[in-house]
Amino acid sequence: MTKLSELEPGFMHEVANTPRGKGILACIQCGRCSSSCPIARLVDEHNPRQLMETIILGSRDEVLRTKLPWYCLSCFTCLDRCPQGGDVAEVMFAIRNLAVREGNVPDGFAAQAGNLIKTGCVVTPTMMMIKKREKLGLSETPSTATEEVQKILKKTGLDKMMASKRTVKE
Ligand code: SF4
Ligand code: SF4
Repeated sequence: MTKLSELEPGFMHEVANTPRGKGILACIQCGRCSSSCPIARLVDEHNPRQLMETIILGSRDEVLRTKLPWYCLSCFTCLDRCPQGGDVAEVMFAIRNLAVREGNVPDGFAAQAGNLIKTGCVVTPTMMMIKKREKLGLSETPSTATEEVQKILKKTGLDKMMASKRTVKE
């Protein structure tokens, strides 16, 4: 829980001013997003309404270090259900983008980003997959435009962001 003196009241507007964050301005805290979210049924920690509240209150550090937005499947059920048309799923993207810029990425996502930077693929084939591919007469790894992918990632600065990664609070 963030101390009162550490709250940043301007944080809601920082989020709203990012390309995907303006849905935060519409939230009236009704809770429909949480009651209809398929992930909230399975993961206690995942509560979209609570994330919106924490952003509105200005708990910047807490929001950017929590794993909550990383559970989101981007199914957009919350957008369909929100009476305000406030797009929680887009706000989840906005928070993840801000968190990555500050080096806060859960280990599993960091590993996938590392694979992407190195090989051009998010998921690299396991030994079992490689053997199955061999049996089917396929090459060891699927062909990817690795150099092109790496060029794009360099332009976006993802390689540098991942180099400064910290661990997100469990
Ligand atoms: S459904 Fe919309 S208005 Fe209600 S809590 Fe979720 S984001 Fe806020
Ligand atoms: S988009 Fe994310 S937050 Fe919204 S309902 Fe789907 S899983 Fe839940």
